[in-house]
Amino acid sequence: MPLRLLINGAKGRMGQALIACAASDSALAIGAQVDDGDDFAAALSLCDAVIDFTHASVTQSVAEACADAGKPLVIGTTGHDDAQRAAIAACSTRIPLVFAPNFSVGVNTLFWLTQKAAEILGADFDLEVVEMHHRLKKDSPSGTARRLAEILAEARDLSYAKDVRHGREGMVGERTKTEIGMHAVRGGDVVGDHTVIYANVGERLELTHKASSRDTFANGALRAAKWARSQPAGLYDMQDVLGLRGAIDLS
Ligand code: NAD
Repeated sequence: MPLRLLINGAKGRMGQALIACAASDSALAIGAQVDDGDDFAAALSLCDAVIDFTHASVTQSVAEACADAGKPLVIGTTGHDDAQRAAIAACSTRIPLVFAPNFSVGVNTLFWLTQKAAEILGADFDLEVVEMHHRLKKDSPSGTARRLAEILAEARDLSYAKDVRHGREGMVGERTKTEIGMHAVRGGDVVGDHTVIYANVGERLELTHKASSRDTFANGALRAAKWARSQPAGLYDMQDVLGLRGAIDLS
């Protein structure tokens, strides 16, 4: 029996990519396509699992409905505040819930490399994250850029909330040793570029990932939905789906 998916945000850029990619996988069927204004509860009763790529304001109610119905949930939506993230995470005590800011294999490898480079290069290197996305993107910085800065902060014993500095304007003074710079560029149809910069006097290392098709995110999210079906209740991300969790801990 194919896994019947509810695609939430079906009319959006990612929703359309998910529907197109699922069509070529016989293990999957689109049970329902839901967008703003549609009856989510009625659609949920027809499906085995849900994939949500909508808007940060939508995801919490989706997670609560999935938890009440016992249906696995994959969340690709980004831009949630801390309270929304906590409420979504609370639902994972009842269902398998994969919540990832980026579903591409390349970006999840970048997460791993970002941690390793921060550990190897040490505290003398200044850390900056630069991301670029298409002109229609609503949240900033991207969820992926936020995760990259969280990884850098963890590696340096810093705090995302206190030490990340979003853009610079005016007489901001010299760069401090502990700040992590964050810069969001918007324009055109860029699917998603992320660069982590490690800069010291005399040398600079840059790690860059560029996505050129949304299919890379869609196929990752579909893979996550098939994987989640056989997992116990819990909060997972793409590192778990790809089996990179152990690899990240290797020294
Ligand atoms: P989009 O604006 O093209 O699509 C969002 C869709 O959600 C729209 O069709 C909109 O009508 C719909 N929507 C809004 N409110 C809704 C509701 N209450 N119920 C159902 N549908 C509703 O955006 P997009 O480019 O497809 O991106 C969607 C989200 O996914 C964003 O948060 C984006 O940052 C994120 N994203 C994540 C990844 C990843 O790998 N995790 C990759 C790309 C995009």
